[in-house]
Amino acid sequence: MSIVTLDSRFARDLAEMAVPWKAEDVDEPRLLALDEDLAVELGLDPAWLRGPDGLRLLVGGNVPEGAAPVAQAYAGHQFGGFVPRLGDGRALLLGELVDPERRVRDLHLKGSGRTPFARGGDGRAAVGPMLREYVVSRAMHALRIPTTRALAVVATGRPVRRERLLPGAVLARVASSHLRVGSFQYATVTGDEGLLRRLADHAIARHHPEAAGAERPYLALFEAVAGAQARLIAQWMLAGFVHGVMNTDNMTISGETIDYGPCAFMDAYDPATVFSSIDHGGRYAYGNQPLVAEWNLARLAETLLPLIDGDQDRAVELATVSLQSFRRRYDEAWSDGMRAKLGLRQLHPALVEELLTLQQTGRADHTSTYRALATAARGDDGPIRELLPGALGSAWVARWLALDPDADAMDTVNPVYIPRNHLVEEALAAATGGDLGPLTQLVEVLDDPYTRRPGLESYTAPAPEQFGGYQTFCGT
Ligand code: AMP
Ligand code: MG
Repeated sequence: MSIVTLDSRFARDLAEMAVPWKAEDVDEPRLLALDEDLAVELGLDPAWLRGPDGLRLLVGGNVPEGAAPVAQAYAGHQFGGFVPRLGDGRALLLGELVDPERRVRDLHLKGSGRTPFARGGDGRAAVGPMLREYVVSRAMHALRIPTTRALAVVATGRPVRRERLLPGAVLARVASSHLRVGSFQYATVTGDEGLLRRLADHAIARHHPEAAGAERPYLALFEAVAGAQARLIAQWMLAGFVHGVMNTDNMTISGETIDYGPCAFMDAYDPATVFSSIDHGGRYAYGNQPLVAEWNLARLAETLLPLIDGDQDRAVELATVSLQSFRRRYDEAWSDGMRAKLGLRQLHPALVEELLTLQQTGRADHTSTYRALATAARGDDGPIRELLPGALGSAWVARWLALDPDADAMDTVNPVYIPRNHLVEEALAAATGGDLGPLTQLVEVLDDPYTRRPGLESYTAPAPEQFGGYQTFCGT
């Protein structure tokens, strides 16, 4: 029995992009992690989810009556190269759930077995990468950065062959939807303008309903997506988050962060920061993220042209103007975020640029810098002098202090605790070996990132020297 009701609106509205499918059977599901707050937010009983029926739901074996699980089709530019057919190779949309606040949320599985989109893949996922998505997406949520959420990670008891054999897992993911820029690219490739229009209407209804009443609804949809992405990328940049694989299939229409494969937070501030082992050219480096977002949005705009205006030149003209507003909106969101991080009432662009230059030349830890500044505003400049040493650092701090920054306001936006790479790796290694202790502790720390607590000093430091150059992998 299931106590969950799932709708299948995507599958009904967009049947051409939805392949009815079933999850691979799991004989011995074992719960590794459950976000109880999220469960409650969804109107689900955590105790039920932990029980046998709940666990079977979380691996796709206990499909609620009336639900119609599907693998979703999408295309995408991967590192700039277009792939017309990607889709959920190892994932399933179980259906849409209406939470007690009447919000529609996708319940989705990753690692649930091969689908017709699997190409050469095995359809499976290993415990480590799924727990990584669980930890980092939960931390992002606590940092108030829009994101898909991880409801649970369940071990399957099945080995997964990567460089070596690893224990397998299924991640249950919740998102306001799984519509991506790549979904629109897929609809375009089919050549079926009716499908494209239905997809756009579906996206408007689900995410940007105000666009429906605009003079040009599809242009308004584009502008709403661009605005949501401008705000999202600004938040990544302010927090020092490197997504790592900003392919168009990994960019949502909702403006939520999706796909936590190779992501990581940077320690020392450096725009050239790259963690992903396959990003040789640095296409998705920290400092490139706003430009890549704009490039991805240009791909979205291209798909919408036939809906924007029957006259192609006119459509291009309108879409170009809208696309140009992305930079302005990104700059506004980022500048306002920097103003808040520095506890100031007004923007001081030159001052901000100088700080970032100092951070970069001194390789100052990004997260620690802003808490150390608040400490300086309270009269103790010890920590910031270590991070920004020398006469230039002192001079900058003195100029900033003269603007009378609000230290308490700063502490509400500058985290003390972020998912430090070495701690995440340690927790995942322990969990893969069967010890969930470090993971549980890490999640507890990250759930409250803004309040400094005694005894948690080891969670605030950047990776030690011997941790070396950090590399991440796509988790496939
Ligand atoms: P990602 O890099 O996770 O965004 O995935 C890119 C594409 O590869 C998507 O179409 C995935 O469904 C597919 N994929 C990734 N890993 C696997 C796997 N183990 N088995 C089947 N398909 C996969
Ligand atoms: Mg993806």
